[in-house]
Amino acid sequence: MQILPCPYCGPRSDAEFHYVGDADKPRPSRDCSDEQWVQYLLMRRNARGAARELWVHRSGCGRWLVLVRDTVNHEVQAAEPMNR
Ligand SMILES: [Zn+2]
Repeated sequence: MQILPCPYCGPRSDAEFHYVGDADKPRPSRDCSDEQWVQYLLMRRNARGAARELWVHRSGCGRWLVLVRDTVNHEVQAAEPMNR
């Protein structure tokens, strides 16, 4: 188990959170091609190091947040409220 910081609730078990996706990946428009939609849904950068990720605290406050997490050692470097 890992403790993740929710910017609204404070530190909580990772079991309360759900990973949504890359926080910096732009969503394609509604009239995008099937290929663009597949690229958006399935293709990931998967780079080593710090990554901005979108999460939801589904068993807690239910709010969305951005975690900056190291993909190598899973260390969370920052937690921010989602401002969209
Ligand atoms: Zn929360």
